[in-house]
Amino acid sequence: MFQDWLTIYKKTRDSTILKSDCICPECGANSIDLQFVGDIRERIGYLDMWCTTCLRGVHISRVLIPEGEPMISFDDPISTMTDRIPDFKQITP
Ligand SMILES: [Zn+2]
Repeated sequence: MFQDWLTIYKKTRDSTILKSDCICPECGANSIDLQFVGDIRERIGYLDMWCTTCLRGVHISRVLIPEGEPMISFDDPISTMTDRIPDFKQITP
C-alpha cells in the first residue's frame, strides 16, 4: 500500500535506522532502495523508492531534498537516471 511506503520513507529519514532494516510492504523483502532526483540548487525534486526484489515502489513528486542527501540532477544525462533507477511498477495512492 502507498501509505506503507510513506511510512518507510519516514523511517529512512531517521539516521539510526538502516535502509536494510526496511521491509517491502509488497513482498516482505528487506531490499528497499531510493533515489532523489531534482534541482541541485533549489533541492526540490522527486523521490523514487523501490524494492529491488519485486520491483515495485513509489514515485513521490515535489519533495524537498534533504541537505547532504545524494541526488541526481535534472541536468545529468538521462542514462545516469536509467542506470540507477530500475523500471519498477509504481504503487499509487
Ligand atoms: Zn518487494
